[in-house]
Amino acid sequence: MSPEPQPSAIVGAVEIQDGTDAVGRSGGGRCAEQDAVDRLGGDPDLVLFSAAVRPRTGYELPVCRAVCQVAYAREQFDDGVAFDSFKRQRGRRYADAAAEQPFEQADGQWFDAGDIDDMAAAATVVALRAELSERRSGVEPAGTRCHYADGWLRAYVDICDPAANLTLATIRIDLTDRWLTAGWCSATRAELDDDLSDALGGDLFVEQADKVARVRAPERAAQWLVRQLDRPVVRLDWRHGDGVAAQAWMLADSDRMLVERGDWQLSERPDSRDAATLVRGAKLA
Ligand SMILES: [Zn+2]
Repeated sequence: MSPEPQPSAIVGAVEIQDGTDAVGRSGGGRCAEQDAVDRLGGDPDLVLFSAAVRPRTGYELPVCRAVCQVAYAREQFDDGVAFDSFKRQRGRRYADAAAEQPFEQADGQWFDAGDIDDMAAAATVVALRAELSERRSGVEPAGTRCHYADGWLRAYVDICDPAANLTLATIRIDLTDRWLTAGWCSATRAELDDDLSDALGGDLFVEQADKVARVRAPERAAQWLVRQLDRPVVRLDWRHGDGVAAQAWMLADSDRMLVERGDWQLSERPDSRDAATLVRGAKLA
C-alpha cells in the first residue's frame, strides 16, 4: 500500500457568481487550475485563482505558459502572481495568481525514490544525490524528486528564489534504455508533460546513450546538472514610487526569461529595469 502521491501543484479557486470555492490539484497531465475549474463545474471565465504552490516545498509556482496563460485571462489571477515566461509569445492572453498551503513541507532526502531495479537508473540517482549533497547549490532536498517506472527514470530539481518564495524553473533529467535527455522546464509543467522536448525552455541537452555510453550516463547526468546549477540567475526590479511595479527572473548567461510578475509590459524590456540582483549561480565576470 502506497499513500496517494502529493500533487506537484495545488491552487485555490473561487467562482465569482455564487462564491463556491475549490482546491485544484495537478496530475494526470493536467494543471491544478484545470482541476479546480472541473471541480467548480461552471464557466471557466468566471473563476478566480490564487497563486499555485508546490506542496513539497511551499514555494509559489508560476502560471504555466503552455496551458493556463492561454486558457485564462490575467485578471483571473490574484495580484502579484508570477507567470512563466519560457518561450515568451506575443498575443497571449495573460493572467495574474495567490496561495493556500494546506500540506506539510516534505523533509527527507535528495531524490526520494522507491525501488529502482535498473542499474544505470539507480546509479544516476546516486550520482545526482552525491553532487547535490556535496555542494551549496541553493537546492533543497524537498525541491528534488524522482520517478521511476517501466525503465524510465525522471529526476527533477526545482530552481528557486527562496527570498521571493518562488519556483523559477525545474530541471528535468530523463534516462531510458536509449536516451539521456535533460533540460530546463516550466516548473508547473515539468511533471505533467510526457514529452520533455515540448516542455523545454532554455538550453536543451540531448544525448543518445548506447550500451557503452549507458555506463557513463550517471556521470554525464551529474556533470551536466552541476553546470546548470552554476548558471547565474538575476532578478530584475522595476520600481514605481516606493513600491515594485514589476519583477522578472532571467538566466543571465543567455538572457532567457524564466518568470515575471507585475506589469508585464515592463518586463518585455529588460534593459529598462531599475536594478538587477544576482539571486543564484556564479557571479558574472
Ligand atoms: Zn497550467
